[in-house]
Amino acid sequence: MNLVSSINLISALPLILFLLLLVLQSLFPRRDLSRVGQRRGWHNLFLFAFNFVLLRFLIPLTLLSTANWALANQLGVFNLIAAPNWLAIVVTVIVLDFAIYWQHVATHKIDLLWRMHKVHHADHDMDVTTAVRFHPLELVLSLLYKALLVILLGAPLAAVIIFELLLFIGPAFNHSNLAIPARVDAALRKMIATPDVHRAHHSIDINEQNTNYGFFLIWWDRWFQTYTERPAAGHRTMSIGLVSQESECERVDQMLIAPFLKS
Ligand SMILES: [Zn+2]
Ligand SMILES: [Zn+2]
Repeated sequence: MNLVSSINLISALPLILFLLLLVLQSLFPRRDLSRVGQRRGWHNLFLFAFNFVLLRFLIPLTLLSTANWALANQLGVFNLIAAPNWLAIVVTVIVLDFAIYWQHVATHKIDLLWRMHKVHHADHDMDVTTAVRFHPLELVLSLLYKALLVILLGAPLAAVIIFELLLFIGPAFNHSNLAIPARVDAALRKMIATPDVHRAHHSIDINEQNTNYGFFLIWWDRWFQTYTERPAAGHRTMSIGLVSQESECERVDQMLIAPFLKS
């Protein structure tokens, strides 16, 4: 298998897992989503398609091309020091995960960033389609932030590929409405954010919303005391979304203009 077909396989993998989770969550649902209707899921997917076209075809920047550029110019920690490749990969993936934790905290604490991030939280419920419900401006800012980190780290190409896979697969998994046996959930959440962990972050209760920021590793929430074990109202009966603006942020056009409206 040559490099091009390997990369094609790698980029197809997240999409296959996304579709698999869509099927699995409908077969083994954690919560009854019928109350809030199917329309929200379709609009989340429309926004995903819009963002995909924007980031794939209109913005000439990827993390892989950034890592290649840093390598060619010998920039960043791991392009300057002689570290074993495996160590550079592991450290880079963990540091990037840590940086995304703080990015997520910032999107909740800084009003300008919250205006964009609230589009993600305005979803009336949470399932795998919520994982791709992000305002395009938030994604572009996030891309610039990650590109800067990739340069500073001198991130190995393999680490960038692994991180990008985790950045898609992790949220697809932990936003899914998939019922997971309690024992499996308990074992997984020692290491990663499970759907039950991330659901508390989508609670309408602001105190719960300001916890469980981790998108893949759960360590940072535990270490920085932003971890909530379970939502007080229970997973099946808790309210998800925002107290305000819920009804105004349902269609894709409403999601796109939401950051520019007075809150
Ligand atoms: Zn959030
Ligand atoms: Zn989320």
